[in-house]
Amino acid sequence: MALVVQKFGGTSVADTEKIRNVARKVIREREAGNDVVVVVSAMGKTTDQLLAMAYELTQNPSLRELDMLASTGEQITIALLAMALHEMGHKAVSMTGPQVGILTDNIHSKAKIVQISDQRLREQLETGHIVIVAGFQGATVDGSITTLGRGGSDTTAVALAAVLKADCCDIYTDVNGVYTCDPRLVPNARKLEAITYDEMLELATLGARVLHNRAVEFAKRYNVPLQVRSSFNDEPGTMVVKETGNMEDIIVSGVAYNRTEAQIKVYGLPDHPGVAAELFKALHDARIVVDMILQNVGHDDTNDLSFTVAREDLNAALDCAKAVAERVGAREVIVSPNIAKVSVVGAGVQSHTDVAANMFKALADKQINIQSISTSEIKISCIIAEEDVDKAVQAIHDALDLSVGSV
Ligand code: ADP
Ligand code: ASP
Ligand code: MG
Repeated sequence: MALVVQKFGGTSVADTEKIRNVARKVIREREAGNDVVVVVSAMGKTTDQLLAMAYELTQNPSLRELDMLASTGEQITIALLAMALHEMGHKAVSMTGPQVGILTDNIHSKAKIVQISDQRLREQLETGHIVIVAGFQGATVDGSITTLGRGGSDTTAVALAAVLKADCCDIYTDVNGVYTCDPRLVPNARKLEAITYDEMLELATLGARVLHNRAVEFAKRYNVPLQVRSSFNDEPGTMVVKETGNMEDIIVSGVAYNRTEAQIKVYGLPDHPGVAAELFKALHDARIVVDMILQNVGHDDTNDLSFTVAREDLNAALDCAKAVAERVGAREVIVSPNIAKVSVVGAGVQSHTDVAANMFKALADKQINIQSISTSEIKISCIIAEEDVDKAVQAIHDALDLSVGSV
């Protein structure tokens, strides 16, 4: 008997008919003789609607209360799915994250899982239950409900699979697997049979929301056999694995984009040691995650520094930047709110110099200006204007011939 973790995302549980469809998939796994733990998201756009209501009341909601609110979405789905399974003659029990014993830190709205006890889950499995767990949520040691960041139900599923040492973790969603680019934006994107944890982690971190990046981190750390597949058909999906068979052949795995960041530029910073440290210490103290950092050496003993942050952190980051700029005597602070980042990810991007050349030429051919560039061993990212994203990803995908690759 195997132990299987299945996760169903928002579109897959959007209404009661779809919940019945999910129940059938769960039963199929159960009837194959397996123990089954199911993790579900909130129905359809429920999380967005809940958060929108909060912002109708206040522009500055308490993060603790936002988590209390957002976590209710998943609670609806677990109860409904349990009822659907009962109706079909199966033993099932629903559990919230705190009931399972998912302990997190206290960073509300982007909490990290610090510990999971498997005791209650095992008790339920041993008494023959299908266990249905609310994704995206946990609790702090003092009992406050937390959420794991948007898209965090994937992380709940993989973390449970890791502690239970599950034989597989299947992420059921509204596309057939992981593609070379978001298939909604690039219709000729190609489905990958397999992708490595490292490349998937990079794609997820750079914006491919098909998997939550922390879910991939867990999968990599605990070697969880992970598959992304469709809720609406039985086709095989994409395996996320340690190594793919034909690693040598794969230069580029995919193109990702992110339009949720904004850029802050600090011009005319004095060119002496400690200035950057002061700026980034202030941002760290405000718990702001900083992404692309660039420094240009200016004239007359000054530097220009730019960095990107999540748009939701823009105001807080701007306050920090302005305060530091004034203290150290920088010339001015400027915000570019409408930027986007397009990235090419693959094990071979650094060694194959033509990838960068082709990426930049594809953008140039479409008259798209590159505002900044950053690279790592397995990615190249460019900041461009947000309005250019759609045509940029299609052009890069075409220029790199990704719809006809070898995987
Ligand atoms: P769920 O609610 O099931 O978690 P999400 O909306 O979070 O679903 O993630 C699935 C979506 O991810 C797809 O509908 C697709 O538009 C998007 N996506 C972005 N990049 C990719 C990619 N490289 N491959 C597949 N899907 C992608
Ligand atoms: N319901 C949450 C969200 O919309 C978590 C998830 O779907 O993974 O972000
Ligand atoms: Mg998701």
